[in-house]
Amino acid sequence: MSHSKVLDYLNDPSPRTLGRSPIEWLDRLHKPTVVRVAGRDRSRTRAMATLLHGNEPSGLFALHRWLLEQHTPAVNMLFLVGGVYPAKIPPRFSMRQLPEGRDLNRCFKEPFEGEEGAIAEAMLAELHSAKPECLLDVHNTSGTGPSFAVTISNDAAHQALTSLFTDRLIMTDLRLGALMEFSEQEVPTVTIECGGSQDDHAHQLAYEGLVRYVSRPDVLSLEQAEWDINVLRNPIRVELAPEATIEYRLEPTGHADLTLPPDIEHRNFGIVSPDEPLGWIGNKGLSILTAISHNRTENMEQVLIVKEGQIYPAQAIKAFMITTNPVIAKSDCLFYAVKATGEPIF
Ligand SMILES: [Zn+2]
Repeated sequence: MSHSKVLDYLNDPSPRTLGRSPIEWLDRLHKPTVVRVAGRDRSRTRAMATLLHGNEPSGLFALHRWLLEQHTPAVNMLFLVGGVYPAKIPPRFSMRQLPEGRDLNRCFKEPFEGEEGAIAEAMLAELHSAKPECLLDVHNTSGTGPSFAVTISNDAAHQALTSLFTDRLIMTDLRLGALMEFSEQEVPTVTIECGGSQDDHAHQLAYEGLVRYVSRPDVLSLEQAEWDINVLRNPIRVELAPEATIEYRLEPTGHADLTLPPDIEHRNFGIVSPDEPLGWIGNKGLSILTAISHNRTENMEQVLIVKEGQIYPAQAIKAFMITTNPVIAKSDCLFYAVKATGEPIF
């Protein structure tokens, strides 16, 4: 049994340990925590990480609910609850990471610097010693968009794990130090984005997916898949220049470099054809936007074009993770896109 100064450990926790609600449980957690539950088949282990982002609670809510029910899982379960420190900052579940800290889900690679690096390294050590047959990492999306999965590979095992939760799989060659890159250790690993952190549907999806994950004897063959998986390969990221201004309005005021309609999130995962306007561009034109494929900056005009102040797709695209949060639009990314077929644009 491994031990760490960085992590706490709970083995087969009782309802008394867990508290009546996820909030009570969070208040009792003092560090990122490893939860182990013994299964019927003790020769195998499955792993699940969650709360790597402190403001994405669906996975923790699902885990708390399932642990309270005191079921015996099909195999041994190893749960890694990552972002306990940011999640505890009042109001609870509002901080993605500590104010001066790093994004934990960018720290699963050497050199493991700082507090988050040490947590990531300790979590990887738990995984290496438990040797799970697969790993899930359960998140929420930033907006209210639908659920999807993200992986770095697209074989039957990754699709089967995806199908426990959702029918959309984004496959990326981008490497950022995310936990899903554990796939490179020959352990099928899938990131699950359950939908918005305030969305009861997302909490329910996380719970139902977790129940399937812990109860089935086999979660890695496609024969048991719930539904066909729609694979989107190597999306480009469309980013907004840091100095650019964005507004979400039904009509442009003339003051912003980019104006998007407030209901733009409804476009998530739908196909947008070249004759459908996406929004309005200001005097600076498309120079305020950048299209980045998995390792290079590309020509924006191949993704979006401007006609009479409005922006249109240059070809039929499928866009997703469209945000209506101007902070995320500026600090992270405006949206991702692939061709309507699911193939990469570049
Ligand atoms: Zn996240």
